[in-house]
Amino acid sequence: MLRKINVLFLDRDGTINRDIGTYVASREQFQLIDGAALAIALARNAGFRIVVITNQAGIAKGIVTPEEVEDIHRHMNELLAPSGAFCDQVYYCPTHPEYPHPVYDRYSFCRKPETGMVDRAIEEYRLSGYEVDISRSFFIGDKTVDIECGKRAGLRSILVRTGHGEEELCRAKGVVPDFIADDLLTAVNDYVLNSDE
Ligand SMILES: [Mg+2]
Repeated sequence: MLRKINVLFLDRDGTINRDIGTYVASREQFQLIDGAALAIALARNAGFRIVVITNQAGIAKGIVTPEEVEDIHRHMNELLAPSGAFCDQVYYCPTHPEYPHPVYDRYSFCRKPETGMVDRAIEEYRLSGYEVDISRSFFIGDKTVDIECGKRAGLRSILVRTGHGEEELCRAKGVVPDFIADDLLTAVNDYVLNSDE
């Protein structure tokens, strides 16, 4: 018998941490957006697991290594800890269609807006005895690809106006988020914690 859990799927750059206009390649370049740690703590207190879903094509481009990316994720949880927050899982996609790579190309199915990373998270939870309740889970991000990925996975989607805040692009592409919020904290307070579903 699988135990049901709710998951808050979160994009990383521009949603949790400040978008610096290029790939975050060191701990120093990773800075939390105001309120992000509190947002994650509040969602955790409400019973949500936190799963980060991030495209990191800087790996295929040779700007950052997988080891550096993983170290940045350890640092992320260190920064979140004082607020009583942390991320349960982080999935990153190293590939990029314009930067062919003999190893990373096999992960192209995972690059958002593809749902490979979300699917894998759901499968890994299943294997450890948990069923992700899609109808009570969310995907939050600052880009069109985040909203598209969330929608394809059947999740409710929230676009945040931090980072790229692609509100206009979403409209132009007809990718309609369920909700739009100024930042992660507002998204969690106004929609995640207030949802009836
Ligand atoms: Mg982003």
